[in-house]
Amino acid sequence: MFDSIIIGAGVAGSVAARELAEAGKKVLVLEKRDHIGGNCYDEKDEHGILIHKYGPHIFHTKEQEAFDYLSRFTKWYEFGHEVVANVHGTLIPVPFNLNTLHMVYDREKADVLEKKLIDAFGMESRVPILKLREHEDPDIRQIADYVYENIFLHYTMKQWGQTPEQIDPAVTGRVPVLISYDNRYFQEPYQGMPLDGYTPMFEAMLDHPDITVKTGIDAKECLTITEDQVLYEGVPFQGDVVYTGPLDELFDCRFGRLPYRSLRFDFEYLDQEDYQGHSVVNYTVSEDFTRITEFKYLTGQKAPGTTIVREYPFAYTGAKGEIPYYSIANEANERLYGQYLALLDKVPNVRLLGRLAEYKYYNIDAMVLKALKLAKELITH
Ligand code: FAD
Ligand code: UDP
Repeated sequence: MFDSIIIGAGVAGSVAARELAEAGKKVLVLEKRDHIGGNCYDEKDEHGILIHKYGPHIFHTKEQEAFDYLSRFTKWYEFGHEVVANVHGTLIPVPFNLNTLHMVYDREKADVLEKKLIDAFGMESRVPILKLREHEDPDIRQIADYVYENIFLHYTMKQWGQTPEQIDPAVTGRVPVLISYDNRYFQEPYQGMPLDGYTPMFEAMLDHPDITVKTGIDAKECLTITEDQVLYEGVPFQGDVVYTGPLDELFDCRFGRLPYRSLRFDFEYLDQEDYQGHSVVNYTVSEDFTRITEFKYLTGQKAPGTTIVREYPFAYTGAKGEIPYYSIANEANERLYGQYLALLDKVPNVRLLGRLAEYKYYNIDAMVLKALKLAKELITH
């Protein structure tokens, strides 16, 4: 009855489903949550404030193709996302940039340091904190130590349970020191929010006569992967299966669990117009939570009250109700991932796609592009 089965209705699954349906395939999408959109899902809370249930999501990309693709399904509320860090009660722009430098040091010293940074790296450059710490100039190392201690160390310990040196350098490299006066968190040309929210964008994407979406169904209830084939409701299924959930859970974690970091989100509604005056405040030297998001500053919503969310990271255990959010890139985990991957060697019609299934730290735009690529491959093979 179906040509393709997609497991998971997040970015990865939704884009793949749409593309396969447009190519003439009958597509079944199975989603275990009671809604579509995966971690990008948003909804109005009981006070009418549009919130992101799984943490703040800001779309940002330099890839025209990703922007154009999503623009088929939404208009945009465009804005340049800015983040500040609360450092002992003072709010400073993050990523650390030349404006931050002038807030942290007195005028004379900041001018000297600024010149040194520009001479060493060039205006508009982006320098990972771990690289800055290795610089030969002691003045530059002094800035690096400030940034390391006040922006990276404690936040990273909270988020990952490890120091910046212990995790994949690409992770802290996402938030480099900027040799510029740009206070925005992202420098890509396209950034903003789907005008009416993420959920309507995914509804529009999945609204196709050849797509059937079933929410509240764990694919493992109807799909079995044997050594060399896929069974759907007990019957061999020859079509393509695109799996976007965690790879270890597909195989009942038989080699042990792939490690992930999870988050607890504590939402709070406040009967006041404004709480923090910023969309996101990172707590980089204090508190157990990493950041507070105030949604109305992300979405541009006007309302008499305001809703905020605090994020508390912890190690995912697989307990009921927990969600794996972040893969942890290191050699041991890659090896374990490889063991699971090998179980699909003789089941070529099962394809892995997405942040969980591929065990990779993808942003939304990268996910869109990856899903488009896979769909193209499936359509033409
Ligand atoms: P998911 O959204 O996780 O979707 C996978 C879906 O599969 C889920 O809905 C899950 O329920 C379902 N599923 C899993 N197993 C099964 C099963 N057995 N049966 C049925 N369904 C199943 N990216 C940005 O570009 N900008 C941001 O600002 C940003 N902020 C983020 C903030 C946080 C806190 C997090 C965690 C991520 C953020 N991201 C951001 C990344 C973004 O969330 C991902 O790029 C994107 O959601 C990945 O989509 P996905 O489809 O791979 O995964
Ligand atoms: N980071 C940090 N302090 C900050 C912001 C980021 O230490 O104020 C580090 C932290 O390790 C984090 C990583 O940089 O996990 C990447 O940050 P990003 O905001 O890109 O993470 P996201 O929330 O998007 O996953």
